[in-house]
Order: sequence, then structure tokens, then C-alpha cells
Amino acid sequence: MKPFVYLRDFVDLIFPPSCLACEQKLFRPERHICLACKADLPRTDFEKYQDNPVFRRFIGRFPLRYAGAWLHFQKAGKVQKLMHAFKYRDQEKLAYFLGGQLAREWRDSPLLASPDVIVPVPLHPRKQRKRGYNQAQAIAEGLSAELSKPLVLDQLRRVRYRNSQTKERRFNRWQQVNSVFQLKDPAKLAGLHILLVDDVITTGATLEACLQVLAQAPESRFSVLTLAHA
Ligand SMILES: [Zn+2]
Repeated sequence: MKPFVYLRDFVDLIFPPSCLACEQKLFRPERHICLACKADLPRTDFEKYQDNPVFRRFIGRFPLRYAGAWLHFQKAGKVQKLMHAFKYRDQEKLAYFLGGQLAREWRDSPLLASPDVIVPVPLHPRKQRKRGYNQAQAIAEGLSAELSKPLVLDQLRRVRYRNSQTKERRFNRWQQVNSVFQLKDPAKLAGLHILLVDDVITTGATLEACLQVLAQAPESRFSVLTLAHA
């Protein structure tokens, strides 16, 4: 007997779950997103070539082994809806699910096959408490479970809470990002190939700031993966 399953059936009966991308009712075994939307997500195919637009964004800024984003982010598109759902509608399970889906599709690519550990871009603890979870971490957990690669959560830390726009203007971008992250014990990540994970890449400034700090780990190598790129 699985009382949990019955409870879910009961809840589903009263509040039938709908697709977070198109709002149509979901049918079993669909979860979070309907099969049509899942098939329709705008994939980048960046796993097929190392020299892709995400990789190129870091050239001259930080030496990476591999980089990629799974989906194209389009304004008012399905990917935006999904990302909005896990950022503002408390859809931690959706972020985890999408991380797992990405891992299933890209499992054999060097981008996912070669790293030793997975590190998500951290939120400031106060912000994480406010939101209830870190969406980059949920994506990384989905990846980690599917790929059986360890997750490292206690080394890279966000030490500055960025809240006020007016305060931010007093810093230039470089000063800003460089005081945001810290690495607890660089020796812990020594010699590892680290896959840094975030939900979306826009300018790449946040990821670059994390990489600059992670680079304190001796003889480490780095790759970057995001769910979407804008
Ligand atoms: Zn749908």
C-alpha cells in the first residue's frame, strides 16, 4: 500500500495539475510540463559543438573546458514561463525535474561526462531563506541524481546580499562581482574538473565571478552549464 500515491490522486482530483508552460491539464504520467511542451522546448544543441555561443562568451574572460545552455530563452516563450515558475511560484520540483531532463538528453556529451563534481551558483543565505530554495541548486540536484556525480554545496558561498539598486550603482561591475562570492577551502576542490551550474546565462558576469573565486582551487578545470541562455 502506498498512502502517498492515494493522497496525490485525491489532491489531483480536486486540483488537477496543469502544464506550467501552456496551462493545459496534465495527464498521467506527465509531471510539471505536458509532453507536447516538453517536445517543443527550444533546444540549442550546444552539446554538439564545443565552440558554441555560451563557450564563446567566456573567451578572453576565463578559460573553460566546455560550456553550454540547454534551451533558448525567448521573451514571453515557454522557457520564460518555466523559469518564472521556479523563481516566483515556488516550483522547486520543476527545477529539479528540468535538471534531470537535461541530464538525460546530454548525458553522453563531454560537457556532462567529463566533470568530477557539480557546483551550483549559490544564493545569499538570507535570499535563499526568503525564497525557500535556490533554483540553481535544484537544477544541479536533478543533474547530480541522474548522472551520479557528487554535488558540492558547502564550498562556494555568496557573502554579499545584493538588494538595493542605488547602492549597486556606486560600484562598477567588476568590484561588484568580486566581493560577492567566497571559496571556503580551496584545497577541497584541488585537481577536480568542476561543472558550475546556473539557471540562466545573460551577460555571464555572475558565472565569471564564481569562476574567478573557484580558480583559487589548485589545478582545477572548469565547465559551465545553464538551463537557458538569453
Ligand atoms: Zn504544455
